[in-house]
Amino acid sequence: MTPSEAPFPTSPVLPETFDGGKTIQFQCRKGIACWNVCCGNIDISLTPYDILRLKQRLGISSTEFLQKHTLPYEMELDSIAGVKLRPVEGGTACQFMQPEGCGVYADRPTACRYYPVALLSMRRQDEYVDRDSYALVKEDHCLGHQEPRRLSIDEYRSEQGLEEYDELARGWRQLILKKKSSGPSIGKPSQRSRQLFFMACYDLDRFRGFVASDGFNEVYAFAEDEKSQLLSDDQGLMLFAFRFLRQVLFGEMSIAIHADSVEQRRERLVEKQRRLETEAADRMAREEREMYGDQE
Ligand code: SF4
Ligand code: SF4
Repeated sequence: MTPSEAPFPTSPVLPETFDGGKTIQFQCRKGIACWNVCCGNIDISLTPYDILRLKQRLGISSTEFLQKHTLPYEMELDSIAGVKLRPVEGGTACQFMQPEGCGVYADRPTACRYYPVALLSMRRQDEYVDRDSYALVKEDHCLGHQEPRRLSIDEYRSEQGLEEYDELARGWRQLILKKKSSGPSIGKPSQRSRQLFFMACYDLDRFRGFVASDGFNEVYAFAEDEKSQLLSDDQGLMLFAFRFLRQVLFGEMSIAIHADSVEQRRERLVEKQRRLETEAADRMAREEREMYGDQE
């Protein structure tokens, strides 16, 4: 479950929200009668870190992973690009499901780790910090709720390795919250900004090519050793991608820009403005001639 998927009336997500101290009763274990039922009908949204872990696990590029294992979607009404795990061809089961359990268990996505807890990241309009709260998902097929084990949500998160997953997805969640809270004044994002968001968040290897390109070099000021270190580190590159998007989408300047590229851009804008003015003046002159004819 991702922050975008808030509970709604027909949802199995219980309407009450909790903090991490809440005690739940739950255990999923091999041998339970419902083993694998949950993985047989999936709706799993992926975070950028989920994709990074899975593409490393499978030894393929992010581009190949996206093509083979995901489906794109738009997060409810916000036109924010997201990706979900693609089920098996013609079915609803996860491609990684095996009779003995999850075939990518050590690198399974955040939503699989959280289940049956749902993470709800929220930001109130008057606050600058994000708040995490949790809800419980109760589905009839899941017998784990009847197991006698009791533990807090914090303990469950720790058991499932979620501190690392949440920490490394924080920058992405903040981008989504910020995009949502930008509201209608920002309007529907342009195709270009959607594509940039998609590439930087989900297609890390394509983003690597972009960062290595001459065009990127012309604009952003990077020491060579700093850049080659960044390009060889998936995790560092992903965190840099979030910074890059904050700069491009929200003007939060944290990556140095060559002074001359700013100057060049300004010159291009002035030139464009001159061209627009000339075209408008020519158009007006033409229309005037058509309206009044040549009266000299
Ligand atoms: S990734 Fe693993 S745990 Fe998640 S749905 Fe697929 S098989 Fe189940
Ligand atoms: S207990 Fe719940 S989470 Fe575990 S296998 Fe059964 S349905 Fe899936």
